[in-house]
Amino acid sequence: MKKLILLFLLLLSPVFANSELQDVGIAKYAVLEVLADNTPLREKPDENAKRLAHLFKNSVLFADKQNDKYYRIDLNNNNYAWINKKFVEVQAIIPEKRFDNIEKISFKEDKKKYQFNIETKTISAYEFKENNNNIDFTLFDNRYDPTEIKIDKINKNFILPNSIKNDFKIQYENDKPVFGYDILKNEKGYIVEIKKTPLINNKKPLKHKIIVVDPGHGGIEKGACAFNLEEKKLNLQISKKLKKELKKKGAKVYLTRTRDKKTDLYKRVDFAKEKQTDILLSIHQNSLPNPKDVDKKHGVGVYYYNDFSYPLAKKIQDNLLISTKFKDDKVNYASFVLTRPTAQPSVLIECGYIIRKEEAIKLADKKFQRIIAKAITKGCEEYLKETFSTMPL
Ligand SMILES: [Zn+2]
Repeated sequence: MKKLILLFLLLLSPVFANSELQDVGIAKYAVLEVLADNTPLREKPDENAKRLAHLFKNSVLFADKQNDKYYRIDLNNNNYAWINKKFVEVQAIIPEKRFDNIEKISFKEDKKKYQFNIETKTISAYEFKENNNNIDFTLFDNRYDPTEIKIDKINKNFILPNSIKNDFKIQYENDKPVFGYDILKNEKGYIVEIKKTPLINNKKPLKHKIIVVDPGHGGIEKGACAFNLEEKKLNLQISKKLKKELKKKGAKVYLTRTRDKKTDLYKRVDFAKEKQTDILLSIHQNSLPNPKDVDKKHGVGVYYYNDFSYPLAKKIQDNLLISTKFKDDKVNYASFVLTRPTAQPSVLIECGYIIRKEEAIKLADKKFQRIIAKAITKGCEEYLKETFSTMPL
């Protein structure tokens, strides 16, 4: 019966096949439940718009407006986000937003990270905002009362709200750039992690650093093919050489695949997470959707998504340009599964264009592959040293 009433309420709210904003029903809010993990919450109602967060399955959201494809989520204080309708189910229509109470928060730290355990009943929307050295984390629709909740010994870099709020906000301020952050879910709520500034040995910046190298594609996913070359094979060959070079500099290195095997993109990201990676490098060879455009683009390019990954991308690109003497296909902002992770600086490297003969010949050459591996390694070393060293360089 309840479902029937709901259906009736929803039918009352006309959904037109256009992008004009409509109310969600006769009452103010539609309560939405997220259907799967990794659901993007976006800044605008557009599939290319910036992702504010990747929501967990069963997250509860409150929508106050809709167009034909998206719900607008009310994040309080005139702050809104958007979610594609195909990723959620309407649970109810209600007149007022509901707020849950945070039940408990505990704080701990180890050598590499700070960790907040936040116990809640409901899974909600959240957001990380990074700004140079600082990170703001907000858990929406969770009432936080500092007089009720006691948290032991928080590191001085963190600021928590000092009065009752409908959202829970953690502000992290540091004197060195961001090195990573993440949110995990457990049976009691969330774990929010902020990576500490890494300790850098100036002579051997990569010493004891954990690097995950991801050879793109594999198995039936060959990647780009040209001149009898398969991208997946070149990616693996270069990745193995890269592993060798990084190890020579003291790093601990893991490959997401060590043989010609189809590997799920999200499993590659999870693998990096499991290894508590310091740097994630995805190795690819470029092509263009239309082979006729072959003369339009060339050279080496590095891709990043999160602002804090940019300095790593830039250092790798600078070194690759010097060593390969390839044309500059730039450091580019791009939303890929392997550039989006926030748990560590993550970049995707397109070593060259496999569809251009003069580049393909070099990319397949063992000596040239070693030059690429050395340049990427040097880029990682310079990034760590110049970004995080506390000693004079
Ligand atoms: Zn590729």
